[in-house]
Amino acid sequence: VTLPTTTSDVLIVGGGPAGFTAAIYAVRAGLSTTMLIGMTEPGGALTTTTDVENYPGFADGIAGPALMEAMQAQAERLGANVLYDDVTALETVGGNWAAITEDAEVHAARAVIVATGAAHKHLGVPGETLAGVSYCATCDGSFFASQDVVVVGGGDTACEEALYLAPLASSVTLLVRSGAMRASVAMRDRVSGDARITVRYDAPVAGITGQDKVAGVQLVDGETLPATGVFVAIGHVPRSELAAKAGVSTDAGGYLVTDRRSEHVTATSVPGLFAAGDVADPTYRQAITAAASGCQAALDVQKYLTAL
Ligand code: NDP
Repeated sequence: VTLPTTTSDVLIVGGGPAGFTAAIYAVRAGLSTTMLIGMTEPGGALTTTTDVENYPGFADGIAGPALMEAMQAQAERLGANVLYDDVTALETVGGNWAAITEDAEVHAARAVIVATGAAHKHLGVPGETLAGVSYCATCDGSFFASQDVVVVGGGDTACEEALYLAPLASSVTLLVRSGAMRASVAMRDRVSGDARITVRYDAPVAGITGQDKVAGVQLVDGETLPATGVFVAIGHVPRSELAAKAGVSTDAGGYLVTDRRSEHVTATSVPGLFAAGDVADPTYRQAITAAASGCQAALDVQKYLTAL
């Protein structure tokens, strides 16, 4: 790999709340900042949601895409160089980082923040693209007040989604595909102790029915449960391959491992490579926590570059 003549102080991969917040803090710290935000999902997972009501500062809520456009405009106004390019490899060359894009372009930087997010796992059944199918009860639950909803999954996330929806919806049915939940005992106990939640075991989903919005969930055994909302909570896939290929350690779930407890919480096992947002967060996965870790990553990079 031949490095270009210009080298940024920091290169940020990923254009969600973590990436843009990192850029805002980096440029304000005087670091030359390049962002490669990718063509697959520019703006990140929030661009696929409708109203965001839990991001502070917007009394009436804000549409996911509008929030991301505002973050990008803020980062660019402050001086971040935002490029739409998918990064296929990160390599170290003579003490610097090279990010190689799909078009074989090379961008050089002294440090890298990986903020590539996580993708929701999809059921892959007919009807999954209907309106009324959601992957986030905290985001969309309030739109299903006093309606019949179904949650699919048997892990801690599915339990959390069901418990979040229980006081809002008129009924919550949790569909577990096997005979047992994978969730922790504590979460299982909370779900089984909640009279508002019905758990159905051995209930794999065959499809979601409805014309343009959800009307029901069809089980493999042929039964159809009437519902206007379906929350799919069957796990996440962190987009960690890029950083993993560059040598960053991952946990059992594939999430990037960061040095959470130290004074540089976003540092990874590879010096100069930092991780922020959902790609390194199996637990919280909120826009605001992703933004916060982007801030931490920029401050960590600033400290790292000063110490070099
Ligand atoms: P998990 O991987 O733990 O669970 C996924 C669940 O979805 C499993 O029950 C799995 O079933 C089921 N599933 C997978 N594919 C399908 C499918 N096609 N149809 C139906 N069901 C399917 O993911 P989570 O997101 O729940 O949790 C991820 C991690 O985050 C875990 O470590 C969890 O403990 C943690 N977490 C902790 C929380 C807490 O402590 N409060 C809250 C949220 C998450 P099967 O078992 O049959 O494979």
